[in-house]
Amino acid sequence: MSGLSLRNVGKSYGAVTVMKDLNLDIHDGEFLVLVGPSGCGKSTLLRMIAGLEDISTGTISIGDRIVNDLPASQRKLSMVFQSYALYPHMSVKKNLAFGLQNLKMSKAEIERRVADAARILQIEPLLERKPRQLSGGQKQRVAIGRAIVREPELFLFDEPLSNLDAELRVQMRVELAGLYNRLGTTMIYVTHDQVEAMTMASRIVVLRAGRIEQVGTPYELYTRPCNLFVAGFIGSPKINLIEGMARHQAGQTLLELADFGAIKVPGLATGAGKLTMGIRPEAMHLGHGPVQAPAKVQLVEYLGSEIFVHVALASGAVYLVHAAGKARHFVGEEVSVTFDPGEAHYFNEAGLRVEAMAEENAA
Ligand code: ADP
Ligand code: MG
Repeated sequence: MSGLSLRNVGKSYGAVTVMKDLNLDIHDGEFLVLVGPSGCGKSTLLRMIAGLEDISTGTISIGDRIVNDLPASQRKLSMVFQSYALYPHMSVKKNLAFGLQNLKMSKAEIERRVADAARILQIEPLLERKPRQLSGGQKQRVAIGRAIVREPELFLFDEPLSNLDAELRVQMRVELAGLYNRLGTTMIYVTHDQVEAMTMASRIVVLRAGRIEQVGTPYELYTRPCNLFVAGFIGSPKINLIEGMARHQAGQTLLELADFGAIKVPGLATGAGKLTMGIRPEAMHLGHGPVQAPAKVQLVEYLGSEIFVHVALASGAVYLVHAAGKARHFVGEEVSVTFDPGEAHYFNEAGLRVEAMAEENAA
């Protein structure tokens, strides 16, 4: 497939606009993940790309060709949905072959494609079974197989793992990533789960209320979230957000925080006023440093290799601190919390990232 571009794409249902002026380029061969809270427009966007839903404004092109009016059947893509919707009375093999038979493909070609898909998905021993004789993960593999046999130029996935239990979801995530590595076909994958997005994507598009908040690699979104929403949405467990008042004094930016006092912020390109500091749990430590505050351990989440300690500060704020798995902590313990202001993110009153000048120089 040559690249896919969306220009000023909008969608309205009657008087209700659910998407407006969306611009996005999808590169040939990438694994693009659309992520955002439920109702933000992910499925609508995917269905518009698929040609299953009309677009209200703008254009969708594949290469140089505008495909707004091209029917779904001619877009050379396959879609996998959340519900597997296999034909219950057909064997796995027939489920895989059925769509191809409808295309009047030769028997030999169908045999080859079904065998290929079965091998890729490791479902060869299941070909004679009926869907009711399959586990959830196996059913989902067959559903993906039905997309693979079409040998599309583009795969579209709409939350294909949401119906699976947690363990299977992790396993299928690995399988899908492997599938992508083997096929190298462009994939657009929709999920509300940011962990899925982070672990599988070449690039992530964060959507909120029908708008794109940020596009970038998992690394870019995690290390440089462009606004408070992305900072809060990407990363598990969540980033700590601390509000304060900034002022300039003797050529420095000081940020006044309830528990930590006035901290020196690495030269921010911003004026005085309200500022929100975002600091990830792994950048906050139990211990002492130039910036510190007393706190009390409220909850300890022991995960084996790591520990998340919830600490309550004098102001009543509760923050999450990541500690090494060997550390021993207990509820009620009096501790000190510390962090390096250079490792924090800063957002202005409008919720937009303000860059630290030091970071810009370093980049
Ligand atoms: P997501 O997949 O991100 O959960 P959807 O794309 O399904 O979100 O929906 C986006 C928004 O569009 C929602 O507010 C939803 O209520 C609205 N919507 C979706 N389909 C229709 C429809 N057929 N008629 C009216 N509103 C719709
Ligand atoms: Mg959806």
